[in-house]
Amino acid sequence: MNILVINCGSSSLKYQLLNMNDESQLASGLVERIGIEGSRLKQETPAFGKKVVEVEMKDHKAALENVLKALTNEEYGAIKSLEEVNAVGHRVVHAGEKYSESVIINDDVIKALEECIELAPLHNPPNLTGIRAIQELLPSVDNVAVFDTAFHQTMPATSYIYPLPYELYEKYGVRRYGFHGTSHRYVYQRAAAMLGKDAKDLKLISCHLGNGASLCAIDGGKAVATSMGFTPLEGLVMGTRCGDIDPAIVTYIMDKENLDTAGANNLLNKKSGVFGISGVSSDFRDIEDAAAEGNERAQLALDVFDLRVKKYIAAYASIMGGVDGIIFTAGLGENSIDNRKSICENLEFMGVELDEEANKVRGKETIVSKPDSRVKVMVIPTNEELMIARDTLELVK
Ligand code: ADP
Repeated sequence: MNILVINCGSSSLKYQLLNMNDESQLASGLVERIGIEGSRLKQETPAFGKKVVEVEMKDHKAALENVLKALTNEEYGAIKSLEEVNAVGHRVVHAGEKYSESVIINDDVIKALEECIELAPLHNPPNLTGIRAIQELLPSVDNVAVFDTAFHQTMPATSYIYPLPYELYEKYGVRRYGFHGTSHRYVYQRAAAMLGKDAKDLKLISCHLGNGASLCAIDGGKAVATSMGFTPLEGLVMGTRCGDIDPAIVTYIMDKENLDTAGANNLLNKKSGVFGISGVSSDFRDIEDAAAEGNERAQLALDVFDLRVKKYIAAYASIMGGVDGIIFTAGLGENSIDNRKSICENLEFMGVELDEEANKVRGKETIVSKPDSRVKVMVIPTNEELMIARDTLELVK
């Protein structure tokens, strides 16, 4: 059973073809600059290696046509014909309160996702475009939607209700939804396997630290709290997003700088975070380099980032009445030795003892706490594509 996993962004598209008999990757690829001059497709297969195809792709349908061509290309493809694609799993960002699990896509699902566009105007439209294009190009295969928000639907109301007039929740769905759910779900399941325990018996905190970053408290295999909110802007300090701030700052700055709502959104989403503090870059590698060269604002950005992760970890341990494991994942979580060290510092009081030698690791699934640390600290590379393929397999088989 081969499953194609598709993740459509506004001008890019990531894909993977997986053989689910042994979960091996048959091909992975990326289409960039869709609808922009200079669009290209990059694909990698175990047999051929990397291939770049430069071709004009005016929209997502054209991009997917080229993906299917590349997958079946005689020289650098992975399969002989499209009949070898048995199902397609789609990453979808927002399902509102409608879905708490992945679903096979039918007209009702499409309608529900269209209704969620208001909640995720940047993400749901390209996700839907990808679904429609595959329905046209591969009319006989089942499509499955896997939602970023779904895993968080088990949160209690105490975690998702904002202290705003309750009518805003009823009228407009203003509540915490949370994102990165597929990643948090993948890593907590891996953590349970690594610890040789049933997830039902574990209290875990998953730290997805990438350009976008969020934490999730997972008690007995269920999400009970998460740091992203109504949108992916809340919570941690991120590459260019501010995370938690005093909401009064927004209207104050709008007045002072003469900003409209689009301007304010741009400031908070694109010009803030570690980029805003450091003035250097949104990429943690550049900021680490600048800090090492003595740039004080770069160091301050890293310190503010780490402190907020630490605050959330302690808060989530208190919500769950303890914690058995802390998971670090995504670009920064998997790779940054220094950030992990600084985040875990001062958490010894709650049983977190990082092993500095074991922590000198990048991108490898391993335990980095001391053998007798009460709380296990783990590095677990995330794999959202595999999780999407597993859900797809489960629903279509
Ligand atoms: P997203 O999917 O949200 O774009 P990723 O999970 O790919 O993000 O994470 C990207 C971030 O990870 C980059 O901004 C970079 O700062 C950080 N990162 C990647 N590798 C390293 C590394 N070796 N050291 C420190 N940070 C890293």
